[in-house]
Amino acid sequence: MKKILIVEDEEAIANLIKINLEAEGYRCVCAYDGRAGADRIEREEFDLILLDIMLPEIDGYELLEYVRPLETPVIFLTAKGKLEDRIYGLKRGADDYIVKPFQIGELLARVEALLRRYGKINKKLSFGDVEIDLVSRIVTKSGIPVELTFKEFALLVELIQNKGVALYRERLYEKIWGEPFMGDTRTLDSHIQRLRRKLNWESRIKTIFRVGYRLEDRP
Ligand code: CA
Repeated sequence: MKKILIVEDEEAIANLIKINLEAEGYRCVCAYDGRAGADRIEREEFDLILLDIMLPEIDGYELLEYVRPLETPVIFLTAKGKLEDRIYGLKRGADDYIVKPFQIGELLARVEALLRRYGKINKKLSFGDVEIDLVSRIVTKSGIPVELTFKEFALLVELIQNKGVALYRERLYEKIWGEPFMGDTRTLDSHIQRLRRKLNWESRIKTIFRVGYRLEDRP
């Protein structure tokens, strides 16, 4: 049974969606603010997330940053119907976008289409002797688990998905932290240091002078 997380602070809307999705055979969990949503995402596995943008505590855009490394499909639910908001959401990695108020039938159709599309996507990444399960978020090196923080995990996924490519510090920072890069490289650099240490990747993650980092394609 497919499991869907609904993050929506308007409880009446969240519950209405839940009832309708459950009538279609999905299992649903509701979170009524961003922090509750983040907690759920950290603890449980979902097949799809319906995510409101304007949320107390942590907003939908920020929450999306948590979700992206998991590659769980996300549909934004929002009252914002303006074109620029829609583009912004999709650019940040949402898979689809529904403007409130919406017909429940439309929502069901989009959920179904997205789940179908994602059914074919691989949930595992590997690079050399390092394996990443994007669903359980378990990282192993030569079969031995490696403990990574949330950001380290996101950084690792980003590096592997762009292996062999020089990644600019500012781009990397903005992608992983989801906020503008203000020129302070310490946060990113210290995360890279820790990744190198934990994975024994001192020579694998190359520092590119005045640019950023590159994951070497071959040892
Ligand atoms: Ca809201």
